[in-house]
Amino acid sequence: MTHEGTHVADDARFLDSYNPLSGGYNQNLNISHGQTEFNAYQAGAEVTHEHGFGPNETQKIWDFITASPLYHNIMHNPIFDPHDFPLGIVPAGLPPQVVPDNE
Ligand SMILES: [Zn+2]
Repeated sequence: MTHEGTHVADDARFLDSYNPLSGGYNQNLNISHGQTEFNAYQAGAEVTHEHGFGPNETQKIWDFITASPLYHNIMHNPIFDPHDFPLGIVPAGLPPQVVPDNE
């Protein structure tokens, strides 16, 4: 439950970035499949060490994810296809969308 809840939170953060003025999304929040799996396994490790690592064992978590054939082909792909969930274009005359650079 924690694992899936983390994915839902990651998805919602991106989807909530929809800007009706630009018709687009904040691509900084469109994290990779690898990153959302990392977040989910890390959150899960807070609850149980079922995969043999704790939440602070980042290298072990990454090793577990990269070893899994489930994520091989999508590791570096964004969770949402930018063709379907594009970066917004702010119409002329409006200030550009402010994107925090501390992600
Ligand atoms: Zn997952």
